[in-house]
Amino acid sequence: MTDAPTATDGPLTGAARTTSAVTPYRHAGRNWAGNVRYAARRRHEPSSVDELRRLVAGSARIRAVGTGHSFNRLGDTTGDLVSLSGLPPAIALDPERGTVTVAAGLRYGDVATRLHAQGYALANLASLPHISVSGAVATGTHGSGDAHGNLATAVAALELVTADGDLLTVDRADDRFAGMVVNLGALGVVSRVTLDVVPTFDVRQYVRLGLPRDALDAAFASAYSVSAFTDWRSARVDQVWRKQRADQLPPAADWLGTTAAPAQRHPVPGMPAVNCTPQLGVAGPWHERLPHFRLGFTPSSGDELQSEYHVARDVAADALAALDAVADRIAAVLQICELRTVAADPLWLSPNHGRDSLAIHFTWIGDEAAVLPVVAAVEERLAPFAPRPHWGKVFGLDPAAVAAAYPRYADFLALLAELDPAGKFRTELLDRYLPRR
Ligand SMILES: Cc1cc2nc3c(=O)[nH]c(=O)nc-3n(C[C@H](O)[C@H](O)[C@H](O)COP(=O)(O)OP(=O)(O)OC[C@H]3O[C@@H](n4cnc5c(N)ncnc54)[C@H](O)[C@@H]3O)c2cc1C
Repeated sequence: MTDAPTATDGPLTGAARTTSAVTPYRHAGRNWAGNVRYAARRRHEPSSVDELRRLVAGSARIRAVGTGHSFNRLGDTTGDLVSLSGLPPAIALDPERGTVTVAAGLRYGDVATRLHAQGYALANLASLPHISVSGAVATGTHGSGDAHGNLATAVAALELVTADGDLLTVDRADDRFAGMVVNLGALGVVSRVTLDVVPTFDVRQYVRLGLPRDALDAAFASAYSVSAFTDWRSARVDQVWRKQRADQLPPAADWLGTTAAPAQRHPVPGMPAVNCTPQLGVAGPWHERLPHFRLGFTPSSGDELQSEYHVARDVAADALAALDAVADRIAAVLQICELRTVAADPLWLSPNHGRDSLAIHFTWIGDEAAVLPVVAAVEERLAPFAPRPHWGKVFGLDPAAVAAAYPRYADFLALLAELDPAGKFRTELLDRYLPRR
């Protein structure tokens, strides 16, 4: 699977047709993983915000789609599906405010390249640069780093087209802002996003092998962004990807009982390491080291499902120990499991709301029938730890438990009622986890 547009893509419209700035989701009518066929009756690609406003105002049921990298039906609708890949790929840097305002459908990879060229950076990125800003922010997508919030925490302001077609701009000064950033696509169609920027910086990436699990916290604390990969077959963590500021000293030869990977690695055994960002301590710009996967190459394995659960850092070791009881079942349907840390934030529906978190991520094989019972077993083991699911991945947690894990859940329901009284942006998955009042 590649992420380049293919002959199966639907027609593109507008300015994006002639640029490489926006790549629409690969399968017309399906998500990237291919496990979700969108039920939408019509698919739209407006070429201006005014056209988008008319479309939203005139539709009875509508959802936005980003690059389709989610694994569940959150972005689905039986009505109109709208992609922003036809809007002009505008990026406006404001050095005085330390922000950049971008067309919401742009991919992080495209924003990053243009920001870096102007001497700026985003504080963090996810494992892949292929995803749209609006889609990633809507689901609370994250990278790793004890000191870094998820990608939604970099949002300083949002412009969205609300149910009646009006344009609403909100920023951090607005009381509702913390409820509107991780929005699950339920409050309107986000047309522009303003993100905090920092001066550009270089990163070196080192891959280390065989970390004892009790050294995980020390590993996470050791560098700017750290990811740990395990196959649940051994007591040790197979790989640690340490992404450090270029001026930090490299890890010592016997760092935390690990050994240095002698060559470039892919997290998934057997997959080509060329798909991954450069390792072996070679310094390079932030956007070519913080993601694991290179733009223009297939991220992850391509034939897969994913699930992920966030637990508070103070129960993280116990949560991992609880999963040991089902390690054999996990290993049997697993491609790789990734552990990352995310700092607490104030965003109402963020999986990291109010708590520093460990994110326990599973890249499963692409076989739903085999995977779903294991997902249920994982959720049963994690239930005592108030897990919060990644909103864009496969999960089946009890809706009451999900609601209980979010202190501002009721406030978000009130926001939904205020901004989408007729249920224009509703989906089945929202009806299950965020039922209308
Ligand atoms: C290979 C791979 C690696 C991944 N790695 C990570 C990772 O490192 N960290 C992580 O946290 N997640 C990761 N994910 C998950 C991914 O980041 C999320 O699913 C994210 O939402 C995908 O963004 P998208 O643009 O594809 O959104 P889509 O899947 O297209 O949409 C997601 C949601 O956002 C809504 N939405 C999209 N655009 C708009 C808009 N303009 N206005 C309002 N709502 C909108 C949609 O309606 C939908 O509800 C990964 C996924 C894949 C396939």
